[in-house]
Order: sequence, then structure tokens, then C-alpha cells
Amino acid sequence: MRTKDLSFQDWYTSIGSRTNFCQDSGFSQPSSHHSMSQQDSQAPDVFLQVALPVPFRRLFDYLQPCQKDNQPLQPGIRVKVSFGNRQLIGVLIAISQQSDWPTDKLKPVLELIDKQPIIPDDLLKLCQWTAKYYHHSLGETLQVALPAVLRQGKTSNYGTSIRYNTVTANQDQTIALSRAPKQLAAYKTLLEHPAGLTLAGLKGLGIANHIIQGLKQKQLIEEVETTEPTLIKPWPSSLLYEPALTLNQSQQQAVTTVTNQLNQFHCFLLKGVTGSGKTEVYLQIIEACLKQKCQALILIPEIGLTPQTLQRFKARFSVPIVALHSNLTDLERWQAWQTASSGQAGIIIGTRSAIFTPMAKPGVIIIDEEHDSSFKQQDNLRYSARDVAVYRANQLQIPIVLGSATPSLESLFNVSAGRYQKLELPDRAGDAEPPSINMLDLKGKPLSDGLAVDLQPVIASHLNAGNQVLVFINRRGFAPTLICHECGWLADCGQCDAHLTLHRYPPLLRCHHCGVEENIPHLCPKCQQNSLHPVGTGTERCEATLNQWFPDIELIRIDRDTTQRKYAMQELLEKVHQAKPAILLGTQMLAKGHHFPKVSLVVVVDADSGLFSSDFRGVEKLIQLLTQVAGRAGRAATQGEVIIQTHQPNHPMLQLLQASRHDEMTQSLLNERQRLLLPPFGYMVLFRAESSYQQKAEALLNEAYLCTQQAEASYDTFKSVEVLGPLPAPMEKRQGRFRYQLVIQAQHRQPLHQLTSLITQHLENSKLSRQVRWSVDVDPQDMN
Ligand code: ADP
Ligand code: ZN
Ligand code: ZN
Repeated sequence: MRTKDLSFQDWYTSIGSRTNFCQDSGFSQPSSHHSMSQQDSQAPDVFLQVALPVPFRRLFDYLQPCQKDNQPLQPGIRVKVSFGNRQLIGVLIAISQQSDWPTDKLKPVLELIDKQPIIPDDLLKLCQWTAKYYHHSLGETLQVALPAVLRQGKTSNYGTSIRYNTVTANQDQTIALSRAPKQLAAYKTLLEHPAGLTLAGLKGLGIANHIIQGLKQKQLIEEVETTEPTLIKPWPSSLLYEPALTLNQSQQQAVTTVTNQLNQFHCFLLKGVTGSGKTEVYLQIIEACLKQKCQALILIPEIGLTPQTLQRFKARFSVPIVALHSNLTDLERWQAWQTASSGQAGIIIGTRSAIFTPMAKPGVIIIDEEHDSSFKQQDNLRYSARDVAVYRANQLQIPIVLGSATPSLESLFNVSAGRYQKLELPDRAGDAEPPSINMLDLKGKPLSDGLAVDLQPVIASHLNAGNQVLVFINRRGFAPTLICHECGWLADCGQCDAHLTLHRYPPLLRCHHCGVEENIPHLCPKCQQNSLHPVGTGTERCEATLNQWFPDIELIRIDRDTTQRKYAMQELLEKVHQAKPAILLGTQMLAKGHHFPKVSLVVVVDADSGLFSSDFRGVEKLIQLLTQVAGRAGRAATQGEVIIQTHQPNHPMLQLLQASRHDEMTQSLLNERQRLLLPPFGYMVLFRAESSYQQKAEALLNEAYLCTQQAEASYDTFKSVEVLGPLPAPMEKRQGRFRYQLVIQAQHRQPLHQLTSLITQHLENSKLSRQVRWSVDVDPQDMN
């Protein structure tokens, strides 16, 4: 949720399309256009339109800096400006001959930070499109797109390198160094190199960093920044470390289809059952792209998958590969950005925000697991990296491949509408067979911590055969909550409309929505009876039964609680890959992308909660998740078995899943969406508001509602837009704040976006918006 900064909300009063925050209090309204030619006969002034990291959806006008050192003004350079009583780093977007503001109300830019654009033109345009499409401030969009080093206005070192050189005034200090022979030798070397040497260059000559630092401390040498472009080493002529696999027929067809169209925009949907060798297809498309001396950008959903994917790419390709993910330090991220931007990196792999990585020679974009919800950011700039990627590929005129075993309905719809081309891998690669899927009807069956007692011998037989078993349950903790058997008291969170989850290690009650923690009461807080019982099952509780059933078997639990520590996930996965008989127990972290060759049985503990979700995407997501989990079974030579525990074994969706009739499942879901005019048959924008005062959140969205009514009364085009709400959010209270929603939907994007603009403009200017957090979500994924 965007936070509203009261300090500048208070000053803000104007409605102008561009505003300069130069006055001490309040702002005057822009009058007519002011251009210098009308006003005086001096050289015409220019106005710098700057994007600033503030929530307002507009640019801000500034004058040129007072000290002009003839620095060229180009869009994409960073500028430092004063804004209210703060100084901000912004990005110059345009240079204009006129402004909506009188010149004497505008302030000059304090500093031009860059000599040349730090943000390549195509990236700037991508950010502009993203800001416009998601109705977000361009300045804040740039915050998401740029590495921290750049946002903070630090010197960019863009195209420059640090060199060490002798200090001119101290020429020939050889005598002073007679007692430090290593420093003396280094000093002499530097004297022989009047242009100075980089650290890498010095290292190449056998001079270590600490010797250089010693000389620097004595002020005998200095650091100089040179603008000489970073040297780009050509890629090795042989691109591969290991030979590519021989493709099967459908893989070959997919690769050929894409590589025949490498120099134009085209969107491919690669639908391949789990284990069908999609990754091998990506690798060979990338190889073709590298051969053309172009770079490949690959987006993957989970940070947990990065080491594995990275390893596979590094084992194959000899070109530099950079990985962009949230565990990088600011400096590492900045270096990766530069390596990609300069064209040095052949392959760029990253999670969501890596879609904003600049590339000198873009060749192809690949989105793995395109249906994955992590590609959609759920706060601040609520963008879908997949959708931005499709736009970017079009902008760059390069192909894009969306890969998945369970494509999103949106992408499948785009295939049927002829916008995307479908490539299919119907079979598993190599010798692997598809797993057999069976429903375990829980009705009337004895359970132990949520697991049917009947499962024990089945699990045992797989373990005895030397295999591994994966038990999937999408809830961490011991139990979803605690109930009193006498009076019905439930352990609820005081801050949220949610139950507290019971955890055993350490023992406490914790809210998974706000993080509140409480001690577990011994007696019921309401009736004081000793009758408290856990309800439902989480990973910790399953663990208890599995440990009891199989005391000698290693149990590897993978959920958010066991993987918090850095490298914890990697360590757990290494245990799995030792390939000893073991039980892997975990949440959806286990379901995605991993390759567990020894797993022959997958048990899904609970399929029912997803079948009756209030979210219209609930069933789609459940089917995707179940297919993904099932795909972990039998990925090598052994045939896999999947057992799904449910009280609804005859549910039509589960029946189709069991029969692997994916196309029918998709069609049935699409039919339902069409009937209800829901996405992808209609488009949606969701406004959210939250406040600790219930009325205020609702009142702000009422203003939005009135806006839609006025718009409809004035313009016929808006009559096609349907407005729902304001209504309380499915989770009405969260972290102590009341949450409301207003949904607008339409069959065409244009009126929807026009109306969204009107609403956001109104809300930005509303007095109430200073007290209520609000946000716009275009193409919302999560309706919570
Ligand atoms: P997906 O990404 O579709 O889940 P992977 O690319 O991980 O599938 O492939 C699954 C397994 O099959 C991997 O071990 C991979 O090395 C192997 N594989 C893929 N393509 C081939 C092929 N053409 N011949 C033999 N093995 C293959
Ligand atoms: Zn009680
Ligand atoms: Zn809570």
C-alpha cells in the first residue's frame, strides 16, 4: 500500500498537471502557458520536467541550474532538486520551452548529477509506459526500476573506472619509501604508468590492494575517476562448456519456431507438462540468441530457485551470467546492472524487478512459470512483470517465451485470440513417465494429524524401495488455530480479521498477517476451562505424525519457518539431493520448479480449502498448484504416484485433474469466466483504501464512487464500466486498519483506464486522502 507522506500532503493544494514545490506554503494555480519568448527578449529559457520519488502522478518543472557549465541536458540524467524543505534526486524526463507556471515561481535545479543519461532511452520509455498503465507515479516507478546506488544519487561510475596514480606534487618519493620495499616497488610501477592503473591492472602486475591502500594513506598516490568506457571483453568464441542435449521432436520444433523469428516481436506460450524439458528448450533458444551476439533476459518466480537455475545456466554457457535477486547487496546489484547494460553479460537471470534491467543488445526474453503469482507485485507499484515483459519485447522488437506447465487463463486466452503462438511439449523428456493421480476419499476415514491412517503403509512401501516421499500441505505452523471445546472461544488476532496460528517450536500463537505473537494460554481465556484444542493441520503437526510413523527416516521440512536463515534453503535442498530415502514435508515452496529425481510419491494433505475459495481465481490457482506438486513425482526413471486427500473426490475439477484432461479443465474455467465477464473476458481495476477509522476508508472510496457516477452522467463511454462497491475487503481488518475496496470493470480497456485516471486524480486531491492509505491495482491478481 502506498504510504502517504503527511508533510507534503499538507502543502499540496493544486490540481495542475505539473507542479513545482517551490513556495514555502501552498501553491498558486498555474495560469496560462508561460514561455520566455512572450515575457522578455533574453535567450529563451528552458524548463526541466523532472520525475520525483513522490506519489503524485505528474512531473515537476524546474529551471536550469544557476551555474551552467555547459553540461548537456538530456532526458535520463539524474538531477538534485529542492522539494518543499527536502532535497530529492529526480530524473530529467523532458526539456520544454514552456511551463504551466510563471518562471518566478520556479526554482532552479540544484545539481545535474550525470553528464550523460544514466537511464537508457528504451528503459525510460518502458518506465513511462509502466507508470501510465498502472496509474502510478513515474518517479516511484523509477524507484522500483533503478538500483539503490542510482536512486541515492551516488556517482554512478557509469562508463568510468577508478584508477590509481602518483600524486603529481609528490613526484619521486622513492627515498621516503626506502623502508617499505613492496610499497616502493608499487610506487615505481605507477611512475612508469602515467595514465594510472586500475586495481585489477595492479593485481595483474602482482600488486595487492593493501599495498595500494598503504600508499594512499601516505598520500603518495591518489584515486582518479576516468571516463574511459569500461572495457568489454568479447565473449569466448565457443559459447558452450557442455554440449546441448539432443532434443526430442516437440522440443526441437519449439526451438526452431522461436529461433526462426529471433529478430522480431512475437509472443510464444510454451506449454510443457512438468519434466518435459522446458528448461532445455530455453537453453537452446538462448544459445541461438548468443550466437547472434545478443543478450537473453530470463525471469524466474522464486528466489529459492535461483541457485539451481543459475547452476544449470553456468554449467552450460561460458558467457558472463548475472543474477539479479533480492539477496544482493546494493553494490552487487549495481555491478550486475552495469554488466547487463554494457552488453558484457550474455545472460541475465532474475526475479520480478529484473524486467527493468537495461541491455545493450537485447535478443530474447523468457518468463519461466509465467502463471506464477510472484510476478505480480502486491504493493507500491502493482505491476505484473510478465505483462511488462510482453510490452518490453514488443518495444524492443524481440521474441518473448512464456513457459509453464499450467499457463494462466490470460495467456491461454491470448493464444485463442491469435495474439500468442502456442508451442507444446506433451510428454516428459527422457524416459520419465507421467505420474498416476489418485484421490483418497477422507469421508469417514480415521486421521492422524490430518493424514489418513491408510497412508502409512503406502508411504512405507515407497521408502522401502529406496525412494523419497513428498508431503505437501500449504499451511505452516502446527495448527491454523486453537479452539475451546467448552465454550467455543477461538484464538483470534486483535489486529486482524484472522485466527492466530499455533506454533510449537517455539511454542506461541502468531498472526500470519500482522506478525503479532502471544503466549499459548493454558486455560480458556473466556471460560477458564482446561479445554483448549488445536484445530486443523499445519506442517509442524504433520511432522509430528510422520516422525511417529517413521522414526528412523530423515524428515526434511521446508516452509517459511525453516528457511528464514540465509542459505537454509540451499542446505535443506542439498540434504534432499543426497538421495537417501527421506520424507520432504513442506508448503508451496516445495511445489515449484524443483527437480527431485528420487521422489516417487507425492501426498497432497488438503485439496478442499482451495475448491471453495471466495477468490474467483481460487480453482485456477488450486489446479495449477496441484499440477505443479504432482509434477514433482517420478521425474526420473521411477514412475510416480500422487495421492490427493479430499472430502470431494467427485468434484468435476479433481476428476479432470485425475484424468490429466488439462484442456478440458482450462475450457471449463474459461467458460465460467466468460459467463461472468471476469478476466480474461473483461478487465478490472481495484481501488483499495484502509484506515484505522472505518468510516474514513469507506468515505474515500465513496468519493471514488461518486466520481464514476459523475463521469457516467457526462460521457456515454463510461456507461460500459461496471462499478462494484465500496465494500469491505474479504479480510476487513488487518494490522488494526479497516480495509475497503471498489472494483471497476469493463470489457474494453480504454474507458476503464480513462475512468481510473479521473478517479486517481480526484483521490490525489481529496482532503481525505491525507488520512487514508489508498492504492490502485490494475489487473489485480489477489482480491484480498
Ligand atoms: P521442465 O523445465 O519442463 O520441468 P526440465 O528442463 O527440468 O523440465 O527437464 C526435466 C529433466 O529432463 C531434466 O533432468 C533434463 O535434463 C531432462 N531432459 C530435458 N530434455 C531432455 C532431452 N531432450 N533428452 C534427455 N533428457 C532431457
Ligand atoms: Zn472456553
Ligand atoms: Zn494479525
